[in-house]
Amino acid sequence: MAGMERMPVLFIGHGSPMNAIEDNVFSRVWREAAGKLPRPEAILCISAHWETPGTRVTAMEKPQTIHDFGGFPRELFETEYPAPGSPWLAQEVRRAVGETIVAPDLEWGLDHGCWSVLKQMYPAADVPVVQLSLDEGATARARYEIAGKLAPLRRKGVLVLASGNLVHNLGRVRLRAGAGFNDEFGFDWAVEANTLFKALIDGREHDRLIDYRSLGPSAQLAINSAEHYLPMLYAVALREQDESVTWFNDTAVAGSLTMTSFRIDRTE
Ligand code: ZN
Repeated sequence: MAGMERMPVLFIGHGSPMNAIEDNVFSRVWREAAGKLPRPEAILCISAHWETPGTRVTAMEKPQTIHDFGGFPRELFETEYPAPGSPWLAQEVRRAVGETIVAPDLEWGLDHGCWSVLKQMYPAADVPVVQLSLDEGATARARYEIAGKLAPLRRKGVLVLASGNLVHNLGRVRLRAGAGFNDEFGFDWAVEANTLFKALIDGREHDRLIDYRSLGPSAQLAINSAEHYLPMLYAVALREQDESVTWFNDTAVAGSLTMTSFRIDRTE
């Protein structure tokens, strides 16, 4: 696989777990996004929903589908995503980042931050998938530096998929009468924060994105507990000089989330 072109990098705003099985404006764009990519050898997913002490990488042959949510229809709990794992990719990740920094994990599997998106993008579940955890004790700077070390994987056909939400504050969700979770509206602070994050991402202002606690009151509301924001840092850390950012699903939902997503690649 030497000399292979760089795989694009994705950040996906995943939102409601129901997007895994619904045909809606967001899931449709996920499917289209997959159609625009070269077929990956394997996928490395950084999900908001896997935080661990230290950084871990799933290394099992057959990751289980984790239904890490409550209050959804039985159909969603019965949905499986039986993609194979990739001990090869797990080892490549450990080698790239450092074997003392990333520990192999045989317990986790695929959480909904990962499989809800991939179920739409690769419904046949025939591309191997590995997850990399968020180290709950690391600084944002340390996470960004770990992410940067993943760069060589892009030239080995690995699709890096970071999955979270740029704006995510579940405590402030508002479901308007008769509307579902994908109701398209955002509070002023959510829209303002989303606009700021996009400008900083476009402008490669990574230091400011890392120092997110200094981005003002709207950003504080938007980032809240941070686990949905942090996967974005893993994506932007991989942007190279000749690459640009293409936005999609740039929509606020339920008041306090944005589905805003982007692809990093070289545009001709
Ligand atoms: Zn989530």
